[in-house]
Amino acid sequence: MKFVLRAFSNGMDGVFIAGCRLNECNYVTHGNYHALTMVLLCRKIMEYIGLNPERLRIEFMSSSEGLLFAEIMNDFGKHVNALGPLGKSEGIDGDELKSKVREIEKLVPYIKMATREKLASRLENEEEYEGFFTTGEIEKLFHEVPSYYIDPDKCQACMICSRRCPVEAIAGGKNLIHVVDQETCIKCGTCFEVCPPRFGAVKMISDGPVPPPIPEEERKIARKTNKK
Ligand code: SF4
Ligand code: SF4
Repeated sequence: MKFVLRAFSNGMDGVFIAGCRLNECNYVTHGNYHALTMVLLCRKIMEYIGLNPERLRIEFMSSSEGLLFAEIMNDFGKHVNALGPLGKSEGIDGDELKSKVREIEKLVPYIKMATREKLASRLENEEEYEGFFTTGEIEKLFHEVPSYYIDPDKCQACMICSRRCPVEAIAGGKNLIHVVDQETCIKCGTCFEVCPPRFGAVKMISDGPVPPPIPEEERKIARKTNKK
């Protein structure tokens, strides 16, 4: 999903994905089904932000079907040409669209986590995927984007969350209360999962404002010692 969105945020007018025929994948993982569900989700998200979903297409074929591949590519090329440069058929400035896509790109870890069960599902045939993701689901997905906040009264500066954060969005250190930089956070939820339950310092907030970060000069944790 990230590669697809990156292509659009870099100004590509169309993205085409080809996979082996469904049920003919050589691997037990059947990645072509996963690619299909990802494309269906991506197309609904494109619709949600005003990007024409026809700019993204997936087709399945075998490696011996060169003619079919050529036909499909010619057809897709013509179709994208008719849509024009990114933003033209959408009636939106191309740069505005690119920045919307970039915002969504940042949320990919959250999107994949929130939709993981559905993304992994495998139906009998392609027709059954009609309407697989609904507009309502996508609206809910973006309405419920959570924020992660570290409760300064509970953080014990064990540093597990800052070590595991994939984008270095958590400021902290030895004996320092940790703080999430909301601008950098990509909502992956890792800090929420790894904070030891005995501390339970990371809060997931879905329905309200995030409290401001504790001021730097108040982050030092005074440890009790056993010395008498
Ligand atoms: S949710 Fe936590 S671990 Fe994930 S990016 Fe945000 S701060 Fe880092
Ligand atoms: S894992 Fe929890 S207790 Fe440890 S530093 Fe992070 S928020 Fe604080």
